[in-house]
Amino acid sequence: MNDMTGVSFLPLGGTGEIGMNLNLYRQGEAWLAVDCGIGFSGNDTPEAEIILPDPVFIAERRDRLAGLVVTHAHEDHLGAIAHLWPQLGCPVYVTPFAAAVLRRKLGEAGLVQQVPIHVIAPGGAFTVGPFDLRFVSVTHSVPESQSLVLRTPQGIIVHTGDWKIDPNPQVGPPTDLETFAELGREGVLAMVCDSTNVRTEGPSASEADVRREMTRLIASLEGRIAVTCFASNVARVETLAMAAKAAGRRVAVVGRSLRNLEVAARECGYLSDVPHFLSEQDANSIPDNQVLLIVTGSQGEPRSALSRIAADTHPNIALGEGDTVIYSSRMIPGNEQAVIQVQDSLTRRGVHVITDKDHLVHVSGHATGGDVRKLYDLVRPRFLIPVHGEWRHLTANAAIAQELNIEPVLLEDGDILDIRADGVEIGDTAPTGRLVLDGGRILPMNGGVLSARRRMLFNGMVLGSFAVDDEGYLIGDPKVSAPGLLDAEDPETQRVTEEFGNALDEIPDELRENDATFREAAKTALRRALGRKLQKRPLVDVHLLRV
Ligand SMILES: [Zn+2]
Repeated sequence: MNDMTGVSFLPLGGTGEIGMNLNLYRQGEAWLAVDCGIGFSGNDTPEAEIILPDPVFIAERRDRLAGLVVTHAHEDHLGAIAHLWPQLGCPVYVTPFAAAVLRRKLGEAGLVQQVPIHVIAPGGAFTVGPFDLRFVSVTHSVPESQSLVLRTPQGIIVHTGDWKIDPNPQVGPPTDLETFAELGREGVLAMVCDSTNVRTEGPSASEADVRREMTRLIASLEGRIAVTCFASNVARVETLAMAAKAAGRRVAVVGRSLRNLEVAARECGYLSDVPHFLSEQDANSIPDNQVLLIVTGSQGEPRSALSRIAADTHPNIALGEGDTVIYSSRMIPGNEQAVIQVQDSLTRRGVHVITDKDHLVHVSGHATGGDVRKLYDLVRPRFLIPVHGEWRHLTANAAIAQELNIEPVLLEDGDILDIRADGVEIGDTAPTGRLVLDGGRILPMNGGVLSARRRMLFNGMVLGSFAVDDEGYLIGDPKVSAPGLLDAEDPETQRVTEEFGNALDEIPDELRENDATFREAAKTALRRALGRKLQKRPLVDVHLLRV
């Protein structure tokens, strides 16, 4: 099915344990990308912190990529654009708030002049190449989150993005259920739906409930109060500002991402009922009982404000006996250890730590099982494709669809699903992979550099250096260093160096003429010299110097 009316869906990063979203739709010859996010690696891959989906499949077809639509301003949906756009080279379609967040990122990457950004109003209709599109406003934990509706020659496809149902979201409109119901009446062929929180039963709790509880809680506390939450959760930041105001406290923000977010939010007209926040320096001139600090670091990020406060190494802010830290956030799986360590350090300093286990200080931004049922009842798609979640979330979402006589289709990243008015079928498979943002470079996760670093991380490395004359005979003594494996003073280093020297002497003459064969023979000699005593398989390399 490759004629002009053929339609496909292809997820390239949203169906695994690291939810970095990059989705593609094809209509005829043209492609459309939906979201382009980063993932955080957690404990599995300590050599890599920020992971990007490998866009090679679409980069090879970039002349046919009509555009990239961003559903909302979260890192796992737009965080990779500043890194991968040079490979995509297409116009980007975003709401005003996501545009404000994206422009700052592109500015940092020196790309703001190059990337054509089309700002689309929430709920707006637009076309990208042959794609007939419209946004539908949904509630999530960042302003202006949108579902995307594609009117294709085969039928209507609804791509939910991240969403939940909250009749009282505090910031922005509630999920536009009326439009979803209209689409349902018109007939929806397929729906691609967020699965993150479907294993939670019943309807979602509301931000209004958090606001009520937070207001009560903050009024009841003495001493300094610091609250940590995601910077992009503008409704939550507003909740904290309102609760602070009611308790006669002024708000100071601590951490760069919160400061940036305040600027983006105010630029787009959010937080307009809330006085401008104080800087962390200003906070120190206000009595403890009259200040509320909003701080970054809810996931235990080592360089974040809260981690530094907990370690008492923050340049401006100190907390201690009689103060309170509220976690207005959830622990993202993989971060538990880091978060608990920070909470433990705070407790040791005499700080009272409150989490969502103690009080209703957080609600999820993702649809529960109850929310999903309600939406499926309205939209009644023929096919349901669960995305954005681990395998157990995807299958739970599929099970709900099945109960409602909607046919679920489970895809792996790279599966190309051909969608026709009369059925769906997995056709080809696209190459997928992970890239790692390593300092300023992008490296393949399974490439040589990171494989070597993994090996060094667990087994150390051994480097042998030696000089030889024209004929390849050793001049002076070789040197061996083994960072991450042996100290220079370790007697074992001495032994390995001597045995390496002896093994070099035994290399046959015919291998000494060519540098490449000589180096390989020397590596083997070094491995032999290391022996089995250490029971490690370090990265081994040699430097051959011909003088
Ligand atoms: Zn999101």
